[in-house]
Amino acid sequence: MDKYASLGEAVFYSKQIKNIWRLLDWSDRDKAILLSISTVPLLAGYMAWLWFTQTFTQFGLDYISPSGARLTYAFAFLSQLCWLGFSAWGFLLRRFHRHSRFYTGSVIYFYGISLLFIGHMVGLYNPLLGVMLLGGSLTGFILFDYWRVLGSFLLSLLLIILLASLVGAGILEYAPLFISDPIVKGSVSVYWVFSIILCSVPFVVTVFFAVFILLNRWRRREAKIRRLSATDPLTGLANRRSLFEKAEYELARVRRNGQHLAVCMVDLDYFKSINDQHGHAAGDFVLQQISRVFTRELRDVDIVGRIGGEEFVLVLPDSDGEAVLQAVERCRRAIETAPIVLADSREQLGVTASFGVCASKGRDSLTFAQMLARADEVLYQAKREGRNRVILWKG
Ligand code: GH3
Ligand code: MG
Ligand code: MG
Repeated sequence: MDKYASLGEAVFYSKQIKNIWRLLDWSDRDKAILLSISTVPLLAGYMAWLWFTQTFTQFGLDYISPSGARLTYAFAFLSQLCWLGFSAWGFLLRRFHRHSRFYTGSVIYFYGISLLFIGHMVGLYNPLLGVMLLGGSLTGFILFDYWRVLGSFLLSLLLIILLASLVGAGILEYAPLFISDPIVKGSVSVYWVFSIILCSVPFVVTVFFAVFILLNRWRRREAKIRRLSATDPLTGLANRRSLFEKAEYELARVRRNGQHLAVCMVDLDYFKSINDQHGHAAGDFVLQQISRVFTRELRDVDIVGRIGGEEFVLVLPDSDGEAVLQAVERCRRAIETAPIVLADSREQLGVTASFGVCASKGRDSLTFAQMLARADEVLYQAKREGRNRVILWKG
């Protein structure tokens, strides 16, 4: 804590607090600290409600038992001390960069038990207890280890049954906070109904917040996984799988509309020697620069993918043979005429590439794989004929 003047300041400036939206990635210890700290104002709020009700309302005079209120204050006060203790314990662990399963477990179990006491004071047969029990457990399941939350939930249920039995046997009083029940047939206290709703709000809000960040995280993760599974990490282009998917979709589309589609296979010339002379990192840099040339020179509707080491595939929908040859030739020239400058040595590398093109007509029934095989065939012809050229498959 030496960096901060006070506990409050530590909480306010804590990097973790600013990262509240990434709550699920916090350590169990830090989540337990947050739970401990946030329970203090929650209990203070309940005490404030009790004080207000007793001091200012008719409901207080009619229903609140002074001895029950004293007991509630005493418990809430003690409980708050415990929560402050838990917070301090957590901050100490944090300061010494320690994690403790015992600490998190204690917080989770104490949470269940302390809420149960409030439930007992206002009567176990009360919607507030249900909201606390379900809200607390649901938030717990999202934030913490499944088994410990389940353990705490089962312990709370067991204690509820025990308390109910003791009340039933006349050993304990039912709802000791009240002189008489504020909700009986023929007389319903609206003030008490509103109070229950108000007291449930923190739990409902917490559950909504926890579910919201959980769903948000799922959505973000899914989008990320989708992106990762579809892109080539080195160049950011479509990878083999995603290229095949997109190309087959495009092929079906242009065929339905009776339009054209062309597939172009590209292989860099003498790429192995770039790796050998300048190193693998320089080779990777060249691949990145070449992929930029393709995305710059081609239209947004064209698909560019990297399907192997230094092999790229271009899919150009809605273009006839002539337009395709122009576009591919533009790429070839762009690669040939713009030398790639290595960042470290400022050395300029002249790179060229060979291109094999297969253009389909609307009536063709070639599959994408067949078109790719034809493009590959003429690519090797381009290599044989001296490289740095574009050849169109003529059959
Ligand atoms: P050619 O003109 O006949 O195509 O000659 P080439 O040297 O380009 O021959 P080839 O296509 O067979 O060489 C492929 C080389 O690409 C081999 C490998 O070292 C290199 N390579 C493959 N994947 C990567 C990669 O991800 N990064 C780098 N830097 N190099 C790669
Ligand atoms: Mg090559
Ligand atoms: Mg190759």
